Amino acid sequence: MVSKYKTADASFDNLLRIFTVPEGPDSTLTRIEEELSRNLNQFLREHIVAEEKPLKEIEKDFSDPHIPELPEFVSDHTQHLMDTLVSQSVHTASPSFIGHMTSALPYFLMPLSKIMIALNQNLVKIETSKAFTPLERQVLGMLHRLIYGQSDSFYQQWMHSADHSLGAFCSGGTVANITALWVARNNALKAQGDFNGVEKEGLFKAMQYYGYQGLAILVSERGHYSLKKAADVLGIGQDGLVSVQTDENNRLCPNDLQHKIQMLKAKNIRPFAVIGVAGTTETGNVDPLREIAQICQIEQCHFHVDAAWGGATLMSDTYRHLLDGIELADSVTIDAHKQLYIPMGAGMVLFKDPNAMKAIEHHAQYILRQGSKDLGSHTLEGSRSGMAMLVYASMHIISRAGYQLLIDQSVEKAKYFASLIQEQHDFELVSQPELCLLTYRYLPERAKQALPHASAEEKAELNILINALTKFIQKKQREMGKSFVSRTRLNPPRWDHLDTLVFRVVLANPLTTHEILQSVLKEQREIAATFAPQLLKQIEQYCQQILPSHP
Ligand SMILES: *Cc1c(COP(=O)(O)O)cnc(C)c1O
Repeated sequence: MVSKYKTADASFDNLLRIFTVPEGPDSTLTRIEEELSRNLNQFLREHIVAEEKPLKEIEKDFSDPHIPELPEFVSDHTQHLMDTLVSQSVHTASPSFIGHMTSALPYFLMPLSKIMIALNQNLVKIETSKAFTPLERQVLGMLHRLIYGQSDSFYQQWMHSADHSLGAFCSGGTVANITALWVARNNALKAQGDFNGVEKEGLFKAMQYYGYQGLAILVSERGHYSLKKAADVLGIGQDGLVSVQTDENNRLCPNDLQHKIQMLKAKNIRPFAVIGVAGTTETGNVDPLREIAQICQIEQCHFHVDAAWGGATLMSDTYRHLLDGIELADSVTIDAHKQLYIPMGAGMVLFKDPNAMKAIEHHAQYILRQGSKDLGSHTLEGSRSGMAMLVYASMHIISRAGYQLLIDQSVEKAKYFASLIQEQHDFELVSQPELCLLTYRYLPERAKQALPHASAEEKAELNILINALTKFIQKKQREMGKSFVSRTRLNPPRWDHLDTLVFRVVLANPLTTHEILQSVLKEQREIAATFAPQLLKQIEQYCQQILPSHP
């Protein structure tokens, strides 16, 4: 396919020019840069969620598998990106985009991120990162102290110690969780007697040596899907990730945890790690961390807390008590790209014990030499960018107190939204917000009246109709492009654990107002009435059967 833009010559002289730093304020690139910022700002200011263009149409713009033979001018290509990519992106920064964990970013990160790209430091080793390595170690120290609150002398001793590391900075919560469980697995199957450790001899020999029939990791049924990936890549197997029951507030039941551990042990399967979730992805609830810690101590299990989303709550003196017991964890995952408002690609795992990561230490001759301060000897990933710089900058520019304000207003907004939902005659709050996440559904008034009187079969039937309505409203609202909530499936004990589709709302954007929340409900009610009258009628008629005596 021939590009519709004019093309330049693929000459080496021209190539040298793209590597040359532009001079002067009126160079072409400087101009492009300014215009790009203007365009992006305009895009970010638009308070809509997405332009209505079917994915099939968008795919046509990205259907040519040929690598171009002729170079394009940067200015032309920039325009091309604006037309095809930027205009069709999702407005995650819109205050009415309240469906996901990634939202608006503080604007100062745009210019500051240039430092990261321009310097292109590689954090895998000190030779290619210099000051970025101590900076990242300090960021890990800050987060470690936020969780574990050790003394100043502790951090002086360990933060910059060549042979230790307080954690690992990585691309996100998935890699952070894998890293934590990797450490836990290697410690559970460590070298002993004539066995050289699982990292040397592999799982098969480890099972033979220790005499286990298998390994298990326990997490509540609300655990994040990244843990399944972790169980898979670590050779535990997805069946080795054992689900623990949750209570009506989506929190892990300690009794069931104890029960499951005993069952596994009876089968000679070693439960080597238990995960507490501090802010579940679907409902935002926090497991009873202190109780889980006690069980882990008795059972000699590694206690990991997945606080990828909720960990930032520790920044708030008002709400950090909700994560009580997190300081007892052997390791903790925190995603800075969620509630710390950092661009994607900023996950962290912290270990209570500065020696813990020795279990996964790797050295190589040309790089990561023993005794060097290279961070790469303790990370799953190899080459890594200087992302930690943006966390460092935000910690200074926003400060702990500033983050507290952000967290507090989010939690309070969720409480407001929950009470607003409960006031409506035709909505149902499905999960109470503990942090700034809640779930609910549209429930026509008649259905609300009928459900408590319905038999088990009637409930199941009616629920199928209501699920269809929930799905319809969510999709329609997204297509209309004014606001966005996400959708998930829960099994509330209140409704006989039936599969229940719900709207899921994450109130992270500080620019989301009460008025916006009111209009989200109004829009959903209108979508039901305008676009789904048939479905509403069906629900109405079904309810009539359940409630014949009620007019
Ligand atoms: C988001 C999330 C993860 C995964 O993090 P990524 O950064 O998407 O890899 C893991 N656990 C929980 C609880 C999460 O909310």
